[in-house]
Amino acid sequence: MSHIAFIGIGNMGAPMARNLLKAGHTLAIHDRDVAAAARLAGVNVRVAEGIADAVAGADAVITMLPAGAQVEDAYLGGGGVIGAAAAGTLLVDCSTIDVATARRVAGLATARGLAMLDAPVSGGVAGAEAATLTFMVGGEADAFERGKPILAAMGKAVVHAGGSGNGQAAKICNNLVLGISMIGVCEAFVLAEQLGLEAEKLFEISSKSSGQCWALTSYCPVPGPVPTSPANRDYKPGFTAAMMLKDLRLAGEAAAQARSSSPLGAQAAQVYQLMENAGLGGMDFSGVIKLLRKGE
Ligand code: NAD
Repeated sequence: MSHIAFIGIGNMGAPMARNLLKAGHTLAIHDRDVAAAARLAGVNVRVAEGIADAVAGADAVITMLPAGAQVEDAYLGGGGVIGAAAAGTLLVDCSTIDVATARRVAGLATARGLAMLDAPVSGGVAGAEAATLTFMVGGEADAFERGKPILAAMGKAVVHAGGSGNGQAAKICNNLVLGISMIGVCEAFVLAEQLGLEAEKLFEISSKSSGQCWALTSYCPVPGPVPTSPANRDYKPGFTAAMMLKDLRLAGEAAAQARSSSPLGAQAAQVYQLMENAGLGGMDFSGVIKLLRKGE
């Protein structure tokens, strides 16, 4: 078992850290929100004074932070992970951030002799709680082999996507598909309503036809056909529209840098931006159907 520094004890980080404890690891934790870290204090968990204190003596460091700016701050800032970690420590960033920052931070870690993985996740808070996350991992093969058993304690799938930054690339490409396809499914249900076709009938037919996709059959945006989908609890997240907007913006930035065209991704980002502007950013992203219905 390993001694792990876990930084970022938020909605995702807290349940992920709990699953590491269940697997027998010991933790030193840090969050800039002192109360968030204190909630996890207990047997085999030491609340550290700061990043350098958390990292001292750790075999591995895991970060779960909001975005690239916080990751840069935590790794590169004064008393940050890269300056404080002892040689041989494995660094794993599970946050969803831009590919360029992921590669830059990993390059600076490597220059100091520290192996680093980018390992963003799919599965949301429910997946973090149930230890069923999917990890998409970028980095050197030997670092991946070292990180895999630790990540496996928090997820059902740990996939090596290639070199540094490729985990982030996989994450934004996946969410590009999801963000666009959810809007398509919602448009279809709204049109069906207008045409007098019952939602249950459209679901029964499309789920067996070429319209079949995850947004329809696992996360149906109308109540009824998929009992576990957020539509059945008034679009309580799940995965918020604000999070989807963040990931589509990351995809858009990456597309611009790569000179890759993504016209529907750009349109989808605009639609989730409308949701946020309407005060619905905290709603599950499948609540985009409310924006498309007449009179809602
Ligand atoms: P969150 O805001 O709940 O948690 C982030 C935590 O990091 C907070 O507790 C915050 O205080 C702490 N923090 C911020 N900057 C810090 C710093 N410099 N040093 C130490 N602590 C710092 O966010 P979350 O929902 O847990 O998401 C974390 C990451 O996971 C994000 O990148 C998000 O895109 C990604 N993600 C989230 C979900 C989801 O459903 N919530 C799903 C997949 C991926």
